[in-house]
Amino acid sequence: PVRTRFAPSPTGYLHLGGARTALYSWAFARHFGGTFVLRIEDTDLERSTPAAVQAIIDGMQWLGLNHDEGPFYQMQRMDRYREVVAQMLEEGTAYLCYSSPDEVEAMRERMRAAGEKPRYDGTWRPEPGKTLPAIPADRKPVVRFKNPLDGDVTWDDVVKGTITISNKEMDDLVIARPDGTPTYNFCVAVDDWDMGITHVLRGDDHVNNTPRQINILRAIGAPLPLYGHLPMILGADGEKLSKRHGAVSVMDYPAQGYLPEAMLNYLARLGWSHGDDEVFSMDQFCEWFNLDHLTRSAAQFNNEKLAWLNNHYIKQADNQRLADLAMPHMVDDGANFDGAPALPVVLGLMKERVNTINELADAAMLFYREPKPDAALLTQHLTDAVKPALAQFAERCKTVEWTKEALSAMMKEVLAAHGLKMPQMAMPLRLIVTGQLQTPAIDSVLQIFGRDVILSRLSKFL
Ligand code: GLU
Repeated sequence: PVRTRFAPSPTGYLHLGGARTALYSWAFARHFGGTFVLRIEDTDLERSTPAAVQAIIDGMQWLGLNHDEGPFYQMQRMDRYREVVAQMLEEGTAYLCYSSPDEVEAMRERMRAAGEKPRYDGTWRPEPGKTLPAIPADRKPVVRFKNPLDGDVTWDDVVKGTITISNKEMDDLVIARPDGTPTYNFCVAVDDWDMGITHVLRGDDHVNNTPRQINILRAIGAPLPLYGHLPMILGADGEKLSKRHGAVSVMDYPAQGYLPEAMLNYLARLGWSHGDDEVFSMDQFCEWFNLDHLTRSAAQFNNEKLAWLNNHYIKQADNQRLADLAMPHMVDDGANFDGAPALPVVLGLMKERVNTINELADAAMLFYREPKPDAALLTQHLTDAVKPALAQFAERCKTVEWTKEALSAMMKEVLAAHGLKMPQMAMPLRLIVTGQLQTPAIDSVLQIFGRDVILSRLSKFL
């Protein structure tokens, strides 16, 4: 059975790269009816915070990337790591190393000077027939992994293809510090084993860790997962994505008025493709996503494309849902909903041309605040030639059937009777009714406001 995991370090927010990793791991598990595990890698006590754990969980919840198991916390698994360290010492796949940090630094210095790759020189590494130095008094040892001396580590990366690293490149990794706390690569290997992980998808900043983890997994007799290292996400300028490019935290996006389905669709395509398909649901994605067609090259984040998708999903969205999302913004902006048109109806009219919920909320405000038409604009548009036509229009508003079609037909009759063109009446009408010159189609606006509001607003100017 397929078991995937997302294993964030809780040191900040959930960033876009992390969200994409989580999405792919989740979708792959879904594709095979497998299990998606959430593991919090919180062993870096200086940088890990509960707030960051919450930010990750919030981000995944917003995206709907629900985990089936976990969250597991590495800090709660210390006993297990110690147990595996003890077992490895017993089996001889790890050893106690009493070299002091200064001594290790000195060896590295010597190797650097000799033009070699600096590494631990194996002073305390037991070998058949080798006599180890006397144990220094009062020194606590670290535990080192007995990395194979020869041969290569090779794996078929599902994104990058075959990768081979020579064991000569690798140190005898410290797996436990003098105080007994385990180190990063060791914890990851033990966790992937214990959690039965079959497929590891992660950022390609971890490529160098993979051969170390593979060697540890082999040493403890664990099966190897398949690995896929996803290239990073770059900004539109080709630089590593950072604050400079605007939002990098996933949770900045709901705040800016993005829908999760737009973000998911966008991230799905950012590093994977399925023919020419650009717009698809997550059900569809899970059906398709089988690790084929992952992109090898770094992806560039494109805000316009995300905005375009967001517009698409806003147009598709249920109007009541849009109202629930827009309402808080509008309340902040001082919207008055008393006796005003129903918000879902208004948003249904406005949603065609906005890219975000925030834009939608701004656009809808015209229905929920007192219009304050600019005096100069009024003088310009409410001319003496137009006033009699508007007066007649107001009169007929009292009795006309209050539908878009009837209003539109009635306006045309009034215009014809006065020899005017549509904009000559529509512009002052917009100003009077909404305080602005740009609105959706005037017949829709009139219809939605309702007869009473229109009559009362017109009466103030005629
Ligand atoms: N904790 C690592 C990170 O946040 C991920 C480790 C992994 O996926 O193996 O970058």
